[in-house]
Parts: sequence; C-alpha cells; structure tokens
Amino acid sequence: MSAIDNLPPLREVIARHDLRAKKQLGQNFLLDLNLTAKIARQAGDLRDCDVLEIGPGPGGLTRGLLAEGARHVLAIEKDARALPALAEIAAAYPGRLSVINGDALRVDPLQHLTPPICVAANLPYNIGTELLIRWLTPPDWPPFWQSLTLMFQKEVAERIVARPGSKSYGRLALLAQWRAEAQIVMTLPPEAFVPAPKVHSAVVHLTALPEPRFPADPAVLSRVTAAAFNQRRKMLRASLRGLHPQIDTLLRDAGIAPTARAEEIELERFCALARGLSAARAADRG
Ligand code: SAM
Repeated sequence: MSAIDNLPPLREVIARHDLRAKKQLGQNFLLDLNLTAKIARQAGDLRDCDVLEIGPGPGGLTRGLLAEGARHVLAIEKDARALPALAEIAAAYPGRLSVINGDALRVDPLQHLTPPICVAANLPYNIGTELLIRWLTPPDWPPFWQSLTLMFQKEVAERIVARPGSKSYGRLALLAQWRAEAQIVMTLPPEAFVPAPKVHSAVVHLTALPEPRFPADPAVLSRVTAAAFNQRRKMLRASLRGLHPQIDTLLRDAGIAPTARAEEIELERFCALARGLSAARAADRG
C-alpha cells in the first residue's frame, strides 16, 4: 500500500496522542489512508474548492482531502484531544488546513470559507441528520455549498436517496431530492472503522441544483411533508386534514388520490399540493 503523504501512520498518531475513541462523540475512525483518499475522490475535483470537514478526529479523511489537492480545508472538531494530531497535518500542508475546536452545531464556518465550498465528512452519527437537514434548508437557495460528500450509517444513507414505494422513503428523501441530486457512491463494512460500529456505513454525494426541481414554498412543502409522514400509514386525507378544510379537493387537483398514503407519492405531486395549498390559503385571506 502506498502512503498518501509523509506523515506517520494513523495507528501511531492515535497511540502517541492517546486518542482512544469515545462513544459519546460518535468516534469511529478510518485508519486506512487509501480508503480515506478514495472517499475524498468522491467529492470531485477539490483543487479550486474550500472544503468544510466536520469531525476530523485524528485526521484520516483530512489527509485524504489534502492529498487529493483541496485548496483549503476548514475542519471543525469538538474533541480537543485531536488538536495536536491535526496540527501535525497543518504543518505538513502549510496554509491549507485550519482547525476550529468547537461544536459543529454552534460554529458558523462561513466567515472562514471562500466559495466554491464543498463539504466532506465522516459525520458523528448523533448529529449527522441534524447537520444534513440544516444544509438542505437554508433561508436562500442555492446554498453556501456546491456539494456534500458525507458518511452516514447505511440506513440513513438509504433514507436520503429513497424512491417512492420503498420503506426508507420519507421527509429526508424529499428534502434532499427537491433541491439536490443525491447518490450513494460507496458502502463500507463495519471493519473499515476503529472501533467497528454495529452497522454498515455509506457515503452519499449530494450536488446542489441551481433551482428546486419543482416550484413550491419551502415552508409549506415542509409542513405538508411533515404532516404526511408523521402518520405515514394513514390515508393522506386523514393525515393532512388539519392543513385545509378542502383537503380532498386540493389533493385531487395535485393529482393525488385522497385515499393514497404518503409513501406512494412522488416529489412532484407533493410540490403540486404545496402550491395548491399556498393558493387556497391566499384565496381564503381574500
Ligand atoms: N473524520 C474522522 C475519521 O473519519 O476517522 C473521525 C470521524 S468520527 C465518525 C466523528 C468525529 O466527529 C469525531 O472526531 C468526533 O470527535 C467529532 N465530533 C463529534 N461531535 C461533534 C460536534 N458536535 N462537532 C464537531 N465534531 C464532532
């Protein structure tokens, strides 16, 4: 196996800095630098991009991103124990790696990044979905990022790319696919990580579309899909009853049978329903 840089192997780095994985921080480290370089390549050509990495830990993926030519990496890591290992990487790639010791849910990284910006991360499982939803629902579109290349538990990855009719299909699929192209680009067995998690993992690559696939007010679409999937086994006329008194008519106008269930309905129909609901409410207000 060829080393991707002249830094010491990650096992040695972890032992030297006593970086024993902590479960409460979702720490499952990738130690194979060939694998981290392969994940970095899934992010596309990074030479002209600033990369935001969440949770670099000992820096396996960080090293992959830098070796693959990322213009600049900004890494946000909550665990201060990882900072000395990350400082060694920063010294090996002068001016190309900045590290913020903080909580990714609280730090605003944007002031430190120059577009175009790509996000790449082996996310801590406990905040992965929350971060993804934030990145998919900014106040304005297009978002700050051009692409997201993210490792999730495989079950979560399947929910992001799911199609109607599958058991994984729900709000996450609709949110992701409305304004982005989403694909699973790699799957990894538990043994790829130290310590090995209980489940398989997968890398999802999302590219931001310049415009949503179908027009709809984001807040209305969000309310409609929340209500529809909150009781996914119910008929839509029942789960959406609270949204408008004429919900049966609005469903039919959107091309949806009022007796259908949320998991059968395509994104295009949900967007049509959101538009119909917006128009009906505007008409109600006079
Ligand atoms: N990127 C490393 C790798 O692939 O080997 C580590 C990935 S590990 C799954 C998740 C990392 O996220 C850990 O280093 C953990 O300390 C960090 N982390 C956990 N919660 C965080 C938070 N709220 N903000 C920033 N980093 C966090």
